[in-house]
Amino acid sequence: MSNPCLFCRIASGEVPAKKLHEDDEVVAFWDISPQAPTHFLVIPKKHLSGPGAILSEDEALIGKVVRIGAQLARENGAEHCRLVLNNGAEAGQTVFHLHLHVLAGRAMSWPPG
Ligand code: AMP
Ligand code: ZN
Repeated sequence: MSNPCLFCRIASGEVPAKKLHEDDEVVAFWDISPQAPTHFLVIPKKHLSGPGAILSEDEALIGKVVRIGAQLARENGAEHCRLVLNNGAEAGQTVFHLHLHVLAGRAMSWPPG
């Protein structure tokens, strides 16, 4: 039976996505429903249900997710960007595989809705 996690399936290539980056640990792909002119997601290939599931052994991996997010934003013309990790349904998380949102290309308001 295939993995029920959508982002695990994107990471493995089973579900297609428009990828900007892929290496042995991390994948970045354009969000299917962009909320800004630039909006992509960066995920670890390792399944973690969200920020609350990060273990100390994952710290380097999550640091890499953030580094690649900022680097890809820069490479796509966005020096300034918002990096978002939703943690839990009430915080807006709908896909329970950790993902970093990278949003750029418009003015951002604060606090987020
Ligand atoms: P969150 O609400 O933080 O869990 O974010 C989930 C994000 O995944 C949303 O911004 C969705 O638009 C995005 N998304 C859902 N399915 C796909 C998909 N198949 N390909 C790309 N992005 C997706
Ligand atoms: Zn997963």
